[in-house]
Amino acid sequence: MRLEYTERQKQFRAEVREWLAANVPKEPLASFDTQEGFEQHRAWERKLSEQGFSAVTWPKELGGRGCDLIEWLIFEEEYWAAGAPLRVNQNGVFLLAPTLMEYGTPEQKARFLPRMARADDIWAQGWSEPGAGSDMAAIRCKAIRRNGCYVINGQKIWSTRAVWADWLFGLFRSDPESQRHHGLTFLLVPLDAPGITIRPIKQLNGLTGFAEIFFDDVEVPVANRVGDEGAGWAIAMAPPASNAA
Ligand SMILES: Cc1cc2nc3c(=O)[nH]c(=O)nc-3n(C[C@H](O)[C@H](O)[C@H](O)COP(=O)(O)OP(=O)(O)OC[C@H]3O[C@@H](n4cnc5c(N)ncnc54)[C@H](O)[C@@H]3O)c2cc1C
Repeated sequence: MRLEYTERQKQFRAEVREWLAANVPKEPLASFDTQEGFEQHRAWERKLSEQGFSAVTWPKELGGRGCDLIEWLIFEEEYWAAGAPLRVNQNGVFLLAPTLMEYGTPEQKARFLPRMARADDIWAQGWSEPGAGSDMAAIRCKAIRRNGCYVINGQKIWSTRAVWADWLFGLFRSDPESQRHHGLTFLLVPLDAPGITIRPIKQLNGLTGFAEIFFDDVEVPVANRVGDEGAGWAIAMAPPASNAA
């Protein structure tokens, strides 16, 4: 067996290396746990996306580069060797996107993934709650279906960079009678929706990289549900079956 890179792979590595050498900021960006740094990192993600480099394994029509696994590894090797910035949309690109590729409708993929690739939308995660940390099946934040919407009431906590993020994905209790991992639904929530209050949590270093999120009759259309109602736990726990994200 000959373990060598193909010509195509070598060309890809050379292209990535050259592009990074020309484009990685000479000075480090400000911390993405600050508003200024967050927006600097968003701008960097946009620049990456112009080359299809913000989500290299995604299909080109969704904003990616159509890379296979080896090309992805080549990209990551070159990216970190070049000292390129941390990925401010990692929650979206590396966590939510595989879920959408697997469980999202065609409409959801077309609506959310290209915007994610361009960092038009930066995503936060909404799992933890006071009383539901390590024990995530204790989630109590409710999302009750009414007139084509889920009406969310409750609280999330420890949501990384939710202070500046645009959207949140997470689990909500859609069946108030349910227990544990039953009756949870996976929802996509715009963080500027009426009824949302985001309270920054100051870290020991003084930065506000985390936030509490309070939901007061927040209406989210049923179209923002990923998978079936009540099937959220299995969706959140499923490892991405494809390497398309
Ligand atoms: C860097 C970072 C980023 C995060 N980002 C997000 C985010 O974006 N969104 C989000 O939703 N959450 C986020 N979290 C929260 C995280 O996912 C966990 O929910 C949280 O750290 C654990 O919950 P807790 O703090 O309530 O601790 P608890 O669950 O209350 O645990 C406290 C302590 O008790 C121990 N413990 C708990 N249960 C048991 C048990 N049964 N037996 C023995 N020991 C136990 C734990 O090990 C821990 O030491 C983040 C956490 C970190 C550290």
